[in-house]
Amino acid sequence: MNNTIQYTVDADGIATLQLDVPGRTMNVLTPELMEDLAGCLSRVTEDPAVRGAVLTSAKPAFMAGADLKDLVTAYDRGMTLEEGYRLSQTLSHTFRRLETCGKPVAAAINGVALGGGLELCLACHYRVLADDPGAKVGLPEVTVGLLPGAGGTQRLPRLIGIREALPLMLEGRQVGPEQALKLGIVHELAPADRVVERARRWVLEAGDPEAPWDKKGFRIPGGAGAMHPKAVETFMVGTSLLAGKAFHNYPAPKAIMSAVYEGTITPFDTGLRIESKYFAQLVSGVVARNMMRTLFVHKGEADKLARRPAGIAKSAVGKLGMLGAGMMGAGIAYVSARAGMEVSLLDTSIEAADRGKSYSRALLDKAVSRGKSTPEQAEAVLGLIKPTNDYADLDGCDLVIEAVFEDRGIKADVTARAEAVIAPAAIFASNTSTLPITGLAEASERPENFIGIHFFSPVDKMPLVEIIVGKKTSPEAIARSLDYVRQLRKTPIVVNDSRGFYTSRCFTTFTNEGMTMLAEGINPALIENAARMASMPVGPLAVMDEVTIELGYKIATQAEADLGDEYRPVSGFEVMRKMVEELDRKGKRYGKGFYDYPDNAPKRLWRGLAEHYPLAAEQPSADEVKQRLLVIQALETARCYEEGVLTDPADADIGSIFGWGFPPWTGGTLSFIDTIGVAKFVAECDRMAEAYGPRYEVSDWLRARADGGETFHPAA
Ligand code: NAD
Repeated sequence: MNNTIQYTVDADGIATLQLDVPGRTMNVLTPELMEDLAGCLSRVTEDPAVRGAVLTSAKPAFMAGADLKDLVTAYDRGMTLEEGYRLSQTLSHTFRRLETCGKPVAAAINGVALGGGLELCLACHYRVLADDPGAKVGLPEVTVGLLPGAGGTQRLPRLIGIREALPLMLEGRQVGPEQALKLGIVHELAPADRVVERARRWVLEAGDPEAPWDKKGFRIPGGAGAMHPKAVETFMVGTSLLAGKAFHNYPAPKAIMSAVYEGTITPFDTGLRIESKYFAQLVSGVVARNMMRTLFVHKGEADKLARRPAGIAKSAVGKLGMLGAGMMGAGIAYVSARAGMEVSLLDTSIEAADRGKSYSRALLDKAVSRGKSTPEQAEAVLGLIKPTNDYADLDGCDLVIEAVFEDRGIKADVTARAEAVIAPAAIFASNTSTLPITGLAEASERPENFIGIHFFSPVDKMPLVEIIVGKKTSPEAIARSLDYVRQLRKTPIVVNDSRGFYTSRCFTTFTNEGMTMLAEGINPALIENAARMASMPVGPLAVMDEVTIELGYKIATQAEADLGDEYRPVSGFEVMRKMVEELDRKGKRYGKGFYDYPDNAPKRLWRGLAEHYPLAAEQPSADEVKQRLLVIQALETARCYEEGVLTDPADADIGSIFGWGFPPWTGGTLSFIDTIGVAKFVAECDRMAEAYGPRYEVSDWLRARADGGETFHPAA
């Protein structure tokens, strides 16, 4: 039975294997496909009328790689090293059979070929790639904590040299046709509808059935091994770069380096076994499971709007009203126009609105100069943005988003003015980062249409959007806001209303803890470096400088004013107050904060910190600082889940990684707790509460979960 590959043989004796896994938009390496491929290979080798074969795909893309959904459950199923090894060896064996079948096989790569898809092509003797900007090739396994386990770590270095192959695999970089040809990953480019024809021609005219590495006297381009100066240099530099970037939190890059190093000083088939050994270690480990689950499976589901309320007709925003053309408004206008929406960009004066539009112009000019957009496309996008200071221009908007100053009065005013113009069914959204949505909705005549759509800065780069549901927000408003996020091709999470919602609330525990440690006398360099060593993108003090200490201070004082007696000052409050009010060091924008910003040199920690925050005689270990910084963020996430701000652990994980840069190796904040084990996490919080203060205290709810052995993500 052959369900996944259409097999035909033409009059010239060329077999065509057309991959077409049923029920999937993309071909993936399912067990069934592997079985069918093995069957087709037998027919190719055994049929004397077949001279050679061409491998291609019936779908627009060639192949995406392994079926990660299956692999995510491997850890929970208790996959052993042996099982992981066998999994990789099954793929390797079949691809090796193809490579050594004695007849020439060419890959006609009609579109994207990633991971296992490219590994299959690398096992073919010749590769023709579609000369199409959408056709990308690459080995992105590292981005989900794995390595290419179907021969990729062995074939790519032998094909293009270790020096070129390693960065591609370590960064999981995808390359387009031109670069793929230049690097030598493919032999030839052709228009997408001619790739099969060219591949056939090669089989007929040149058809060499032997891989370069199977020929006598083969040497790896650029050399390999401990005695080769160039190879040694690559591994020495590579290892230190890796340690500097990944801080040993990610096992996959190290495993890739090892598989390449060991595999390229041994015979090819031994190399394949070495690769499988390292693959097995990764696939049966918790880091790969966490990364695959959050970054691939759950993110994929969020992108497909898993949280969209059912039974509501699909919608699209044709015209957007953008109130406030400052940093956020200008960014939101840009991404919306790029997604084809007409945008009325409104500010208090036409000059301010124009300035907002020039932000798009600058970004589009850059895109044109980098060849990512044509001048015509850029003009078309710009043409969609209309700067204005007249509310009448909001007429016909399906959605209005406000990003005016963070001031309740101003927000109430623009809400009323916009609602006087827009249709009763239009959605009104606030991009506020701190003010509860339910309170802001009081200024609205239609609170059911009022919602939070919280973007992150810079809007064009940040992939996450946090949708905030107020008390009266209707399911329809949620559905339509999610449809808008999908139009932008960003990833949404849906959370319930609370001060700081989910992302801002948990992220501030990180910066707050950093400032608290400073006040405790912990060396600021230790705080900053330990955060980086945990794989947070920036240290807490540096990030405070970026968003400005002044803003943090303002938000805290606003919360104090709003909450009155219920307000519990954050532990870093006193540091912010002192930095802003006494020391006039308000952040990077002002040229000074926790860091100094010299004109022609990198920023450096302000020496004066030592005077105001003298170092304690005893300093903690870097591990303890790391652990404090991660635990406090995860604990606040658990509180959000307990309070119903979060209703889905997947939202927690996705929001933490894509919203504020919680380390991807953890799989996100709640995966982090599950990985430690809820009981152990609670014990760790108890210890920290004793040592550092009540902000680490856990609730009865969390303690009960720990006692009951209940994880946040149910085991697969
Ligand atoms: P900004 O100061 O850069 O821009 C605000 C803009 O609103 C200014 O151009 C101002 O002229 C305009 N404005 C003020 N009053 C107005 C009115 N009555 N009518 C029309 N326009 C008016 O501020 P920003 O950083 O873009 O932030 C805007 C909103 O987005 C705030 O609510 C903020 O909390 C939120 N936010 C900011 C970030 C961030 O990183 N900066 C991230 C997420 C959300």
